[in-house]
Amino acid sequence: MTTHADVLIVGAGLSGLYAARILRRAGLTVAVLEARDRIGGRVLSQRLSNGTTIDLGGQWIGPGQTRVYALAKEYGLKTIVSHTQGDNIFLADGKYQRTTDTVPPMSVPGKLDTLKLGWQLDRLIKQIAVVDPCQHQRAKQLDKQSFREWLQQNASSKEARAFWLHVAEEDLCASADRFSPLEWLQQLATMGGLEGLEKSGHEFFADGAQNLAQCMASELGDCIHTNTPVQALRRHGQFVQVITARGEFLGKRVILALPPQLIESISFDDSLTNRPVNKPKDRILGQVTKTLIVYDHAWWRDKGLSGVASTPTELISTLVDSSDFDGKPGILAAFSSGQRAVELSLMDDETRYKAVLSYVENVLGKASGQLTDIVSIDWTSEKWSQGGYASRRAIGGWSEPEHTLTSPFNGIHFAGAETATEWRSFMEGALQSGERASEEVLNALSAEVVA
Ligand SMILES: Cc1cc2nc3c(=O)[nH]c(=O)nc-3n(C[C@H](O)[C@H](O)[C@H](O)COP(=O)(O)OP(=O)(O)OC[C@H]3O[C@@H](n4cnc5c(N)ncnc54)[C@H](O)[C@@H]3O)c2cc1C
Repeated sequence: MTTHADVLIVGAGLSGLYAARILRRAGLTVAVLEARDRIGGRVLSQRLSNGTTIDLGGQWIGPGQTRVYALAKEYGLKTIVSHTQGDNIFLADGKYQRTTDTVPPMSVPGKLDTLKLGWQLDRLIKQIAVVDPCQHQRAKQLDKQSFREWLQQNASSKEARAFWLHVAEEDLCASADRFSPLEWLQQLATMGGLEGLEKSGHEFFADGAQNLAQCMASELGDCIHTNTPVQALRRHGQFVQVITARGEFLGKRVILALPPQLIESISFDDSLTNRPVNKPKDRILGQVTKTLIVYDHAWWRDKGLSGVASTPTELISTLVDSSDFDGKPGILAAFSSGQRAVELSLMDDETRYKAVLSYVENVLGKASGQLTDIVSIDWTSEKWSQGGYASRRAIGGWSEPEHTLTSPFNGIHFAGAETATEWRSFMEGALQSGERASEEVLNALSAEVVA
């Protein structure tokens, strides 16, 4: 059986659902084809037996993320401001150090050098054109070296180097040997610079970020087809034919709302691919494992601790308080990124949870609250994500001819957080990319009608 719709959207993550919502509201018929048995993609919320909701994927939002806030308002979704009061813990000089500061304890020259590098990065970010960073006069140079090499050349102290290495690696979930300064600078430029990054953890959804997807899906109704992995795309007269494990679909236009590396698993017939589709070899897959540790209350707050720990060389690289303001229950979110995420994912559940709990005890002290749940997810082994938070261009990737990832061809359009020019790699970026792709489709279809 063949199903017809004006527009076929591959992927029911935030980008695909948002695109579908816009197109439906514009009066078009859509079919959203989703490989998983659920919607949301990299947003995944889980309700625990005590009624608390935890987010295993995308969670935090902050100022400037206008589309996410507008959706939350429209659907009446409650947000919670992150609790940040208390001392932070940093691993510095091989010791856990407690401080009221948001940067690790450093020597005065180290602190000055850290500030200087921050200004240098900010200056570069302001000069970067988000759509085409290759226009920057030093783009080639900034794209051909690794961020680690750039730091070696630009930081004069070990402390500043270690600080910025950790910030960049945590933001991109990848080793600084594998991405270029340009890759990070462009992402920062899409989010209003380092200030945007700093504020991006401002708040989160009381009932989980997946609710954003769920609300859009309720509005879209039965045009969403789950358990429908797309296998191939073919030209069929003036239509594009999409072949899935559960039947065929015909549409005037297709939006691929997927992480770019997953596009490679879809086969395109020759009439469609008159240009190279982005190859996974051009991409670094972000590696992240997120563990949520739930206690009856946020016991670390009783000790004057914020629950934030920054420990770059440990199995867990970042720990944050993810609980409500009253701290009941108390929830810690533990992130492992890059190689450490791989190490953690190779452990069986029991060993992994033991390692995470022993880390928490080492950095925050003995828990004085009752542990009620511990849940972990390795996004790298998720077949339909292949990594998190997002995938990246490898060193030199911006200098490739198809570096924008977004230009439509033969009725095929591209969405997905990786293609965003605002808040790239974030939930807001996913929405912005869905908006851009749906506008492209609307313009193309109205031009066809005129013709
Ligand atoms: C651990 C983690 C933490 C994060 N934290 C934050 C945060 O705090 N704040 C923030 O803003 N962002 C965060 N993010 C990023 C954010 O979640 C993503 O940017 C956003 O959800 C991506 O949406 P998307 O629609 O672009 O892609 P996806 O969510 O990946 O959607 C793509 C969809 O396509 C489907 N699919 C794949 N292949 C096929 C196929 N062949 N056929 C059919 N369907 C297919 C997938 O199953 C998926 O549902 C985080 C991500 C992770 C993993």
